[in-house]
Amino acid sequence: MDKLLVEKNDLVKEKYELLDSLKKINEKIKEVDICIMNNCKHEWVKEREIGVIYPETFIRCLHCGLYQ
Ligand SMILES: [Zn+2]
Repeated sequence: MDKLLVEKNDLVKEKYELLDSLKKINEKIKEVDICIMNNCKHEWVKEREIGVIYPETFIRCLHCGLYQ
């Protein structure tokens, strides 16, 4: 039983380390996205919402995905 508890504690510790890494990666992705948007030569396209009764129109950049 002790062996199983140690194994579980190791797994829980590894899980939290991985979750922490994931959080850091997500923060880096956000930073890179902001850089991409700030350096993009935007090319705007109109898009209509699909699958709804009253679709809205959006204007979005083809390259970086930014919405106006
Ligand atoms: Zn753009």
